[in-house]
Order: sequence, then C-alpha cells, then structure tokens
Amino acid sequence: MSETFIVLGDQLSLEVAPWPTLPRDTTILMIESERLISQPRHLTRVALYLAAMRHFAHEVEARGFTVDYRRAATFTAGVHEHLAAYSPSRLFMNAPRGRRAGNVFATMGVEILPDPFYLSDVEEIRSRKKRPATLENFQREQRQRLNILMEGDRPAGGQWNFDVENREPLPRDGGAWPHPWLAPLTADEEAIVAELRPRHPGDDALAFWPRTREHALDQLRDAVERIIPRFGRHEDAASYDNWHLAHSRLSPAINMGLLHPREVVHAVVAAYNEGAIPLASAEGFIRQVTGWREWVWVLHHLRDESYASSNVLRATHPLPESWREMGSHPMRCLEGVISHLRHYGWNHHIERLMILANAATLAGVDPVALSDWMVGAYVDGAQWVMEANVIGMGTFADGGKTGTKPYIGGGNYVSKMTNYCDGCQFSPTERIGPSACPLTTLYWDFLIRHEAALATVNRVAPQRRAALARPDRDEIRAQAPHAIEVILRGR
Ligand SMILES: Cc1cc2nc3c(=O)[nH]c(=O)nc-3n(C[C@H](O)[C@H](O)[C@H](O)COP(=O)(O)OP(=O)(O)OC[C@H]3O[C@@H](n4cnc5c(N)ncnc54)[C@H](O)[C@@H]3O)c2cc1C
Repeated sequence: MSETFIVLGDQLSLEVAPWPTLPRDTTILMIESERLISQPRHLTRVALYLAAMRHFAHEVEARGFTVDYRRAATFTAGVHEHLAAYSPSRLFMNAPRGRRAGNVFATMGVEILPDPFYLSDVEEIRSRKKRPATLENFQREQRQRLNILMEGDRPAGGQWNFDVENREPLPRDGGAWPHPWLAPLTADEEAIVAELRPRHPGDDALAFWPRTREHALDQLRDAVERIIPRFGRHEDAASYDNWHLAHSRLSPAINMGLLHPREVVHAVVAAYNEGAIPLASAEGFIRQVTGWREWVWVLHHLRDESYASSNVLRATHPLPESWREMGSHPMRCLEGVISHLRHYGWNHHIERLMILANAATLAGVDPVALSDWMVGAYVDGAQWVMEANVIGMGTFADGGKTGTKPYIGGGNYVSKMTNYCDGCQFSPTERIGPSACPLTTLYWDFLIRHEAALATVNRVAPQRRAALARPDRDEIRAQAPHAIEVILRGR
C-alpha cells in the first residue's frame, strides 16, 4: 500500500516541502472538480487552472511519480474515489491556502502539513501577546526578520516607505508602458479553452498568464528587467487605454505556487543591488509581496469564519448585472475597467480598489457579493486574499479592522489620477443634475449617509465634517438614489 500526497491547483511547486524528500513510490492525487469548473467563472481563470494543473501533472510524472489525475463531481468525491481505487496507507497534503478548504480536508482525515508557500509563520504570530497592529508595523518587522533592503538595522536609503514618491497620476500623454509578457498556447491549451468557452464569460487571454514553472520564471525575469524598474511612481494611476501600466502581473503565478514569494523578492533585491531597479520601485514592489500579500494571508488565518460576512455599513444591493456579465456601462471608468477584466481576467490594484470597490461601496453593494464575484472573475482570485482586500480595505465592511479609513473617492479623484473621465458623459466636478458624476454625488452622500458609523474614524473626520456642512446637502441626498441606479443598472 502506497502513501498518497494531494496537490491542489494553487500548490503547483516541486521546489517546496515535502517534494525534495518525497519517496518516489508516493502516489500524487490531483482532482479537477466539476463543481468548480461549472461555476460561471471567467474563461481565462478556469482555463489557466486546468492548463497549469495538467502541465504540473506531466512534470510530476516525468520525475518518476505515479499521478492519479481525475475529474470528479467535487474534491470530496474525488478523494473518496481515489481511496476506493488505491487504498493508500496515508493521505496527506500541504495545508490548503484557505481556512475553509483546510477544515474540509481535515474532517476527511487528511493529514495536513504546514503551508510552505509563504514567508510568515501564522502560528508564531498567533502565539504572541502583542501582534503587529498595522501593515506598516508588520512590513518593518518582515524587512528586519528577513533582512530585506536593510543596511545593518536601518532601512536602505534611510527610509522605510516611499509612498509619497509613488503617487503620481497618469502622465498627461497617457504614458508608454512595457508590453506584457506572454507565451503562445499549445494545442492542448487551445483544446481546454475550446471546451470551456461556451460555458464561461470573458475572453481567452490564457497566453498572458504563465501555465508552467518555466513560463513563471521567464515572466519573473522579464518583470524584473523591464517592468518593476518602472513600478512605483505611477502605481496609483490607471488608464482607459492600457490595462497593465507597470504592474508585474505576477499574482497568478505566485498564487498558484509556480513562483515562491521568496524567489520573487530575491530577484528584485538582486536587481536593486546591481543598480537596475531604483530604491523607491524596489521598496514599493517588495512591500506588496512581503507586506500586503503576507499580511492578508496572516489576517485570514487569525480571523474566524464570521469575518468574511462582516457588513457594518449594511450594504445590501446586488452586484451590478453589467459587472457579472462583463458588459458595457455608461460611466467610462466602469466601462474601461470591466472591459479590461473581460479581455484579460485581471485588473491592476487601483482599478480593483479605486474604481470597482469604490463604486460598489458608494452604491451600497453587498460586500460578500462583490467578494464572491471577484474570486471567480480574476485569474488570481482567492478567498483568502478577498477578506482583507474586499471586506476590509475595499468596502470598509469590517468597520476599520483592516484599514484605518474607507478607501472612497469621488469623480475628482478619478479624474486626477486617470484618464477615464476624458469623454465621459458624466462630469467629475458636478454633484447635482443630469450630468453629475455618480461617484461625486455618492462620495458626499456616503459621508452623510454613514455619518454615525464614521464618527470615530479619525482619518475621514475632516471630509465628514465638510460633507455635513455642505449647503447642497439635501440636494445631494435627493440625487443619490439616481446615482446608485446608474452604477447598479447603467441608467
Ligand atoms: C478589491 C481588491 C481585490 C483584490 N483581489 C485580489 C485577488 O483575488 N488575488 C490577489 O492575488 N490579489 C488581489 N488583490 C490585491 C492586488 O490588487 C493584486 O494582487 C494585484 O493587483 C496583482 O497585480 P500585480 O501582480 O501586478 O501586483 P504588483 O502591484 O506587481 O504587486 C506584486 C505582488 O504583490 C502581491 N500583492 C500586492 N498587493 C496585494 C494585496 N493588496 N493583497 C495581496 N497581495 C498583494 C501580489 O501577489 C502581487 O503579484 C485585490 C485587491 C483589491 C483592492
């Protein structure tokens, strides 16, 4: 009787434990879940996972392992079918990324090993009397502990954070951005896309995302050479005409396990040491990986299941149909962001945070509906990432447990940082009337509507006071239902 090691679609690495010491007579179990495949997720997302899993299974076989690769109604059904066919003496796996999946496998009697895909130790942090209270504290601790961009016990360049330098708007001419990495599809990958296409929304952009370890290393090398040196300055900008700007687009490869965050960080530090990446870009990028990414993962595991359905602002509107169907929208910012999503299965951070989550928050969209949709709409979507990003930062549904303020902005903010407003039928400077930008009306309405909930949020105190003192306060409140209709129903 052999032992069976289970590999999930986001654990596609032969470099991490226990692979280096795994006996060759271990059977590797990989399952394509019909339940997951049949959900109306973005075509590219589903194709990416199937292609990457199948490539990985071939690599594992080439190493001399037996792979039981099966399609089953659900993961649970797949495990039971494997047990009936193989009767393994031991069933084990690396801890699933998400709390929920971890519980499911544990109750099935699967032995769960520690998660080797991160740089932080959740249990060590859990055991502390005093845990880092903010991302900034956590990130400083990460830099010191992992000795990243440190000069002795001081941060490189004498500064922990270069956010102030990294807030430039889109250049007036739209800018020239490095073309994205891609790798053409194989015949097998074409077949996967063809099989899925009738059942899934969105376009085929599989070529833009790494499906193998080789692809992922190539994308990382390319990002370090051509893209990350330009990250930083314009990381808060966005463009109607360009879907990627200078974002690395490494999130799917890291989330699937094709790249380990450690090697991503080492590659960027090495390039910084050679003078190929400016400090502000290197620090800004590394903060995303060792800071934000690790922080949201740690928070996911420190919090219990109830956090995921937090809704302190009692936002109950459904997700706009045009978002779910990835169709058109009269607001040019939503039109642009949704069309980027439809084409590529991905939006960069500012499009997710300051356009989609912002519009959803201002319009009172149910944060759980937003979160569930994003998990399936994005090639890098995952429940563990959503909690802090959507329930916390994106929608303030946790009342400030993650961020210290709601990330909201009106049309003026969008107009300053992006070119979405150019040619839009709505005017970012107008609050009232038929051409008022719904984001502008709702920005002020949100501050008035949630006056009580925001009373103790110091970082928005001046804006809240200004909203309450507005002479056109009643007109804003009267216009708000129409603005919400425009966001939700496009009319
Ligand atoms: C509303 C909302 C939803 C999001 N949904 C997801 C998601 O489903 N999956 C996901 O991986 N990220 C998500 N993010 C975080 C972030 O937007 C993406 O990781 C990032 O846009 C990926 O692009 P990139 O690889 O070019 O990132 P870069 O800007 O190049 O950053 C480098 C890496 O850092 C990590 N990272 C950066 N910011 C975050 C963050 N806030 N949280 C976690 N990791 C981060 C990613 O792995 C990313 O690849 C979300 C953010 C928001 C505000």
